[in-house]
Order: sequence, then C-alpha cells, then structure tokens
Amino acid sequence: MEIVHTIDWMKQLSRQARLEGRVSGFVPTMGALHDGHLSLVRAALAECRPVIASIFVNPTQFAVGEDLQKYPRTMETDRRKLEDAGVDTLFAPEAAEIYPPGFRTWVNVDGLSERLEGRSRPGHFRGVTTVVLKLLEIVQPEKAYFGRKDAQQARLVRQMTRDLHLDTEIIVCPIVREADGLALSSRNAYLQQDERRAATVLYRALDAARNSIARGERDALRLTAAMRETLRAEPLADPDYVELVDAETLEPVTRLRGACLALVAARFGATRLIDNLLIEERDGKFRTNL
Ligand code: AMP
Repeated sequence: MEIVHTIDWMKQLSRQARLEGRVSGFVPTMGALHDGHLSLVRAALAECRPVIASIFVNPTQFAVGEDLQKYPRTMETDRRKLEDAGVDTLFAPEAAEIYPPGFRTWVNVDGLSERLEGRSRPGHFRGVTTVVLKLLEIVQPEKAYFGRKDAQQARLVRQMTRDLHLDTEIIVCPIVREADGLALSSRNAYLQQDERRAATVLYRALDAARNSIARGERDALRLTAAMRETLRAEPLADPDYVELVDAETLEPVTRLRGACLALVAARFGATRLIDNLLIEERDGKFRTNL
C-alpha cells in the first residue's frame, strides 16, 4: 500500500489511473478505523481498482467546543488495517495543505445542511461538503463509498455531486453494528462502561419503531413517540432529536410514504452518538433496514 501525503502526488496518481481507464474507488474517513470503515473498503474492492482510502481529521467539520483535539488518532493501526484489507493507496494529507493560509471558499448544500445534525452542530456540514468536494477533486474516483450510519451526510454529498456535475458515483453502504445493536463509531471509544451499555438505547429506540411498523403503524407521531419513550427509559441517555423524515428532502413526514428515515441523536456523558433506520415502501409494503 502506498502512503501519499501531498495533494500533488495524489493528483498525479489519480490522473494516471484515469488515463489507464481504471475504475477507481474512494473511501474517505477520519481514521480510528473500525469494521464500519472496512465494510466500505470491502465494497470498494469488490467493484474498483485501485482503491484509495483517506484519513483526514477535518478541522472545519467540528463545531466550536467539539472534540477536534481529542478525536482518536491511531494512524499506525489504521495503516495496518487498510493494508491488510487490500487498499492500494492511503491518502493522508496535512490540514495545513488542505486549508492553506488565505483559504476562503466553501461549499454549502442549502436546506439539507441546517436540519437535524446541522441544527445541533452549526457549520458541521459546510465543513463536510467542502472537504468531500476537495477530496473528490484530488482523488478523482469513479465511485466513492459512504456509510448510511451518517445518513444525512450521505444525502448531502449525493446532492452536492448532482448539483456540481461531479463525475463520481456516490455509493451508500449499510450500517455495521456491534452484536448488541450499537452502530460502530470511532466515538464509541469515548464511552465509559455504563455509558456503553446505555448507548444501545439508540438501537432499541429504532427497533421499537421497526416493530411498530411491522405491526402496521404508519403514523409518524406515534412512531416517534415510541422511540422517545424508549430513550426516556434510559437514564444515562440525554436525547437530542428523534425525527421521522422523508429520505430525499429530510423534511418531517406525518405518515410513512416512499423512503423515510427515522433518526435519533443522544448524548451519553460527553459523547454524542447518532443512529438511524431506513424505511422503504415497495409495492405497498414497508421494509425496514436498521
Ligand atoms: P468517519 O471516519 O466517522 O468520518 O466515517 C467515514 C465513513 O465511514 C463515513 O462514510 C461513515 O458513514 C462510515 N461509517 C462510520 N461508521 C459506520 C458504520 N457503523 N457502518 C457503516 N459505515 C460507517
């Protein structure tokens, strides 16, 4: 696996892969890699060569007072995991090269970026879409892989690539979970033992919605009430939002229709976690995907 630190060299490799007509796949990450990240790598390897992964803890997507300084940085183990998984190139740029002095151009996806995570984390998505556009420009991949764990982020990135006529196809992969349902996240490492146990409540809340849907419930108020009730029963959870939205517009719905997302966010001590359930209508039936 080749490790690339500079934008120039990464661009040169990208240009060469394009000239050779290769289908390159890209997996952007902030490191502290777990099996969720590696599932994206596996999806990329199944369709693309070369596969490029990036590790970049993007300072601009951390809101004021968030965990930028203490975000886990485990480059050596990450490098080994990517190499073992079969990644061809690891792109690990320095923040000073991605954001040189005088940098002043931002990408914002109006409307989709202010809701949900964007409301709780002002400026977060502006940082995300800006860095993803930069990375896509540098890596020039045919396909880029994102996790549905961050469903709003995936939706925004897809909108951005459409609006800016980018050539990269955005592929959204399923959520990888622990055996007890907790979605894998680099931030799970912050959890104290009791908080770790409590954090499964996010999964349990979404599972409650899934069970209600299986029993025929279609009303959004009743479904969100079932999720809130589950969250309230966990004393270590401090809920941020519980919403049922249209998967395209991210606007709240009153009844299930088409593709919807049930989204939950809560704090466990100092750690903020998110999770979601995808609900899709097909032939009048609703399928749920946790
Ligand atoms: P991050 O390093 O947190 O920025 O995440 C990098 C990519 O991995 C994003 O596309 C995430 O959505 C994805 N990801 C993170 N956790 C999971 C998970 N549990 N399952 C699937 N994808 C994930």
